[in-house]
Amino acid sequence: MNIMYKSTRSNNEKVTASQAILKGLAEDGGLFVPEEIPALDVELETLSSMTYQETAYEVMKLFLSDFSEEELKACIRGAYDEKFDTDLIAPLVKKDGAYYLELFHGKTIAFKDMALSILPYLMTTAAKKNGVKNEIVILTATSGDTGKAALAGFADVPGTSIIVFYPKDGVSPIQKKQMLTQKGKNTNVVGIIGNFDDAQTGVKKMFNSKELAERMDKKGYQFSSANSINIGRLVPQIVYYVYAYGQLLKQGEISVGEKMNVVVPTGNFGNILAAYYAKNMGLPIDTLYCASNENKVLFDFFQSGKYDRKREFILTSSPSMDILISSNLERLIYRIAGEDADKTKALMEALVKEGNYEITPEMQEKLTCFQAGYASEGETAAAIRKVYEAADYVMDTHTAVASHVYYEKAAQSGTKTVIASTASPYKFTRSVMDAIDKEKYDSMTDFELVDELNRISGVTVPNAIEEIRTAPILHNTVCDKSEMQDTVEKILGL
Ligand SMILES: *Cc1c(COP(=O)(O)O)cnc(C)c1O
Repeated sequence: MNIMYKSTRSNNEKVTASQAILKGLAEDGGLFVPEEIPALDVELETLSSMTYQETAYEVMKLFLSDFSEEELKACIRGAYDEKFDTDLIAPLVKKDGAYYLELFHGKTIAFKDMALSILPYLMTTAAKKNGVKNEIVILTATSGDTGKAALAGFADVPGTSIIVFYPKDGVSPIQKKQMLTQKGKNTNVVGIIGNFDDAQTGVKKMFNSKELAERMDKKGYQFSSANSINIGRLVPQIVYYVYAYGQLLKQGEISVGEKMNVVVPTGNFGNILAAYYAKNMGLPIDTLYCASNENKVLFDFFQSGKYDRKREFILTSSPSMDILISSNLERLIYRIAGEDADKTKALMEALVKEGNYEITPEMQEKLTCFQAGYASEGETAAAIRKVYEAADYVMDTHTAVASHVYYEKAAQSGTKTVIASTASPYKFTRSVMDAIDKEKYDSMTDFELVDELNRISGVTVPNAIEEIRTAPILHNTVCDKSEMQDTVEKILGL
């Protein structure tokens, strides 16, 4: 079956998967969605004996149907190799009754690696397939983790360059150092005076500027996106939910066909949307728990049907979820609106103009498979402490938000529950160690804390951290949120 992609905001544009990956965003500003969600065509039983790479092929071939078997398998081979510190790629570990799906074993120790390890391969294959001659400029806004994972993925990939914008004061010290020490001739990192939503809005504006696109084309450049608005990010993220189900079967924790829940720490709604797509493919998922931090715009949305971004932006200890405009929610809205592009467009325009929108009761009825919860800063820290004390397992702050929601809402459901564990605790060492014992650790430096975390958890310090201990800072550009386009033009010499 050949799956084509269309925009969430009009019915004018129909493109192949490879074209959708190249473009990132549809011309009308909408997001690309598959015309239909394909059904999983392997027996559930078989999943238990499949490797991560085999599972990836089974899932991705359905969505990326214009890639040949050879092309797709080469992308998968290139992506999921020794860059990951375990052959399992995404191990599922049981701790205190919950199943933590560890998505942080890649190069930059956050779950963004799961998709951003493969995106450069998908992108360059797509460029070849479509006869693209321009250099592809990856333009990305990051709340901390996407930036580094995209930089690591695209560094020195021929035919591409990458520009990353991050909120100068809105990422963890380790996240920042990881980005600023990035090597590669084609990499650019820019701090903005503004928050993540400002960065994302600025990037979207550049994507939507026809005038800019024309000037770039004349110089031999075209933009694409490494943000989760790109379906080349979304599709690889479906894989690990299917894999998790196979692992539950393999470990004898569930029987074939038995349902599982998932709890996902959520910001831009990409990760949990992938789980929703997996459910729609026929994977036995019961409830999807959307877990937010104090920026609980999604929690309020699921409770009331009203999305309202007009509120204070709070900097939390889970910075990758400090987001008030969850881009990928648009794809869910489109689906519960009965794939009505006009309706979706009207709601998204209201969000830009008025800062809010409200869905109809009929749309709300289609959200019964979702539940939402959130964790305050205190609850997040308490969750880290609780699981450390109960199971000697140290989790990061984002995972802890999900863990809190698990104990609050899912633990008593009687259904086996998978928690998407989105970052290594080493990426947020200070917040994690503060949660465990603030008084004891307060005076230590970041790298002393790294060694202390190693001592109390017994988990080897990842390469990603060892690397930055002594690495020189290679990027120092900072601009105001209003100067993002000027900065891009300067970098590209337009
Ligand atoms: C990006 C990120 C999230 C949020 O994922 P979304 O797909 O944006 O909802 C959660 N945790 C970590 C560690 C992240 O890097």
